[in-house]
Amino acid sequence: MRGFHRMNAGWWHGRFRGCGYRITLPRQMIIELLNRTTAHLSAEDVYLEVHKMHSDIGLTTVYRTLELLVQMGIVLKFDFGDGRARYELAETSKGRKHHHHMVCTNCGRIIDYADFIDEEIELLSRTEKGLSKKFNFEITNHLIQFYGLCDQCQKTIKRLSRPSVSQ
Ligand SMILES: [Zn+2]
Ligand SMILES: [Zn+2]
Ligand SMILES: [Zn+2]
Repeated sequence: MRGFHRMNAGWWHGRFRGCGYRITLPRQMIIELLNRTTAHLSAEDVYLEVHKMHSDIGLTTVYRTLELLVQMGIVLKFDFGDGRARYELAETSKGRKHHHHMVCTNCGRIIDYADFIDEEIELLSRTEKGLSKKFNFEITNHLIQFYGLCDQCQKTIKRLSRPSVSQ
């Protein structure tokens, strides 16, 4: 988690050098696409966008490239429970950094937040320390997702469950 805060724009170039991989066109295009969006795209979403600009880049290439970028730690892969893997850049040049998610199980909305509450930071740091010690495991990152109902869905559900007024 700490390491993620030291990255800056174009940080993935260093990752490629470090891993000995070349920055090919599909790799560059997928990173740029993920850098432009705040959405959590599926492989099919990525394919449709990339395919618009370069029709010779196929779905298989997109799948393979995404997996490679995940392995390299450039892209994060999520499962929000809708049966499709979702991808996002670990850090964007627009300043999106390490964040946690709140997922609405009713409308599928995903809220990214990085303004953690104090209790959260303290709990995580204590948990990571404890786990590292107990299992002799060096923790480098974590994914946190909370599931529930967003503000809008709570209102809608309340409205629907309100008894109708008979005259
Ligand atoms: Zn975190
Ligand atoms: Zn919702
Ligand atoms: Zn996110």
